[in-house]
Amino acid sequence: MSDEETSGTETLETTCCIVGGGPAGMVLGLLLARMGVDVVVLEKHGDFLRDFRGDTIHPSTLQVMHELGLLDELLKRPHQEAKRLNGVVGGVEITVADFSQLPTRCQFIAFMPKWDFLDFLSEHAKHYRNFRLWMKAEVKDLIEEDGQVVGVRATTPDGPLDVRARLTVGADGRRSTVRDRAGLKVIDLGAPIDVLWMRLSRRADDPDQPLGRFDQGRVFVMLFRGEYWQCGYVIAKGGIDETRRKGLAAFREDIAKVAPFMRDRVGELRDWDDVKLLTVTVDRLETWHRPGLLCIGDAAHAMSPIGGVGINLAIQDAVATANILAAPLRAGTVSSADLDRVQKRRIFPTKMTQRLQVFLQDCVLGRVLGSSAKLNLPWPLRLLRRFPFLSRIPARVIGMGFRPEHIGPRGSG
Ligand SMILES: Cc1cc2nc3c(=O)[nH]c(=O)nc-3n(C[C@H](O)[C@H](O)[C@H](O)COP(=O)(O)OP(=O)(O)OC[C@H]3O[C@@H](n4cnc5c(N)ncnc54)[C@H](O)[C@@H]3O)c2cc1C
Repeated sequence: MSDEETSGTETLETTCCIVGGGPAGMVLGLLLARMGVDVVVLEKHGDFLRDFRGDTIHPSTLQVMHELGLLDELLKRPHQEAKRLNGVVGGVEITVADFSQLPTRCQFIAFMPKWDFLDFLSEHAKHYRNFRLWMKAEVKDLIEEDGQVVGVRATTPDGPLDVRARLTVGADGRRSTVRDRAGLKVIDLGAPIDVLWMRLSRRADDPDQPLGRFDQGRVFVMLFRGEYWQCGYVIAKGGIDETRRKGLAAFREDIAKVAPFMRDRVGELRDWDDVKLLTVTVDRLETWHRPGLLCIGDAAHAMSPIGGVGINLAIQDAVATANILAAPLRAGTVSSADLDRVQKRRIFPTKMTQRLQVFLQDCVLGRVLGSSAKLNLPWPLRLLRRFPFLSRIPARVIGMGFRPEHIGPRGSG
């Protein structure tokens, strides 16, 4: 940039600049501020209120909130609790995951809109004077000197903003500008599915736990959200044009077939604006860092919606990052080896979760979508039906993940 272009640019100095005020960025900001590190979080939107982006707060995240002393206050906010995840496969209902025996403070998944959770985190982070959240600040580029990332360039309604930092963290989601500008190599694991999301009202005599329904070429997920169901209809990758071509009436009929008790309300889908497309991506960075820069959360690894674990994995990344980097950040000596320790710690749960998701996408969802016949219970589900205690295994994988992280003492890192 020329001198002319940079004149009028506001410049901030901080220790850690976090790009993105999603679950990864807000939790990392809160934890680092609590551990005495000066932090600036840049978020491109003006608030956290957006379309449905996942509402699940899993037992591992509730545990983190408990360890921070914030759990009771969080659970005072409106939410629903799911103690089990049930599936109806070919008309047979089974419990796929039973959280009641988890060795965690909360043995349930809390359903709370992501924006409420992010508001809660930002309220608490703002208690720390060394935490600054800058909304409507969209990062467009990195500032680099001698091969080292030393900050970011953002645009704000008041003009350009440069933030110079010892460490820049890309927590800007699965379409990360930071990872793109840093030229980090992305490994695409592929996904044979997309998901159509919609809301349908809930009646008093409906079930009160989340449900996945699988039958005759259809997969339909229903998340209990109090007054309404947040529903996901799985389609083959790129199948949106075909679904639209068949028409909304045919789509409503498909839903009524897989979830007959919804037949009386599928008319609430008045046009295609009521149905949102999630293009499913599963990928991860080969290397999550460069000198002066680290990516975490979806920016480092976009997850499939299977298991609804993206938010929780992003938060676990943030906890590990704070535990590993707080001390070097305070000392002003963050090395590439420190950044690599974060990747080494989090690559195992990321790979394991993605492997499982890809297996389920290809071998279960792909097969259901590819067959119009009445579905027989696959053998793993027959096993779960025969030995219900086995549903504790998926509960552990979904609820706690492969490597749960814990809040270290304030001075650690
Ligand atoms: C429709 C849908 C349903 C989902 N359902 C679930 C679910 O039920 N459970 C679950 O666990 N996960 C779910 N997910 C996935 C989940 O939303 C993500 O895995 C999780 O939010 C990742 O957190 P993150 O903080 O890494 O990124 P994000 O939540 O994507 O946050 C990134 C933030 O960065 C901001 N940002 C982006 N670019 C810039 C920029 N250039 N400058 C400044 N700010 C920027 C964005 O505005 C955003 O606030 C769902 C996703 C979608 C799309």
